[in-house]
Amino acid sequence: MSYDDDNIFAKILREEIPCKKIYENEYALAFHDINPQAKIHILVIPKGKYISFADFSKNASKDEIEGFFKAVGKIAEEQNLVKEGYRLLTNNGLNAGQEVPHFHIHIFGKQKLGPMISKN
Ligand code: AMP
Repeated sequence: MSYDDDNIFAKILREEIPCKKIYENEYALAFHDINPQAKIHILVIPKGKYISFADFSKNASKDEIEGFFKAVGKIAEEQNLVKEGYRLLTNNGLNAGQEVPHFHIHIFGKQKLGPMISKN
């Protein structure tokens, strides 16, 4: 499977469609999820063209990986999520129900987040 330049997050990165931006560095962009599943629901995406976590962890450079994950930690701090706790989630591929084929991490917070996975 090759990277789809028409996926919605690629369009956000090219500023063809808007987002509610929270944070940006050289390697990552973060914005509010359009359909929040918690009081805080942020998406963090790498600026590089990676389909999934599997693709990113295998093919991204050390600088991209460091810049991306440093951004995730910084956002959690800046959003005051550290003390009360928060959850990181990434859906990778079919079994996880990944909808957008550009790697992203969800950050959930500001409420009790319930069980780790659905029992369904
Ligand atoms: P996933 O199922 O892990 O691929 O998650 C995709 C997420 O992207 C969902 O939580 C959607 O609500 C979110 N999403 C889709 N389109 C947009 C958009 N234009 N702006 C912000 N979030 C979006």
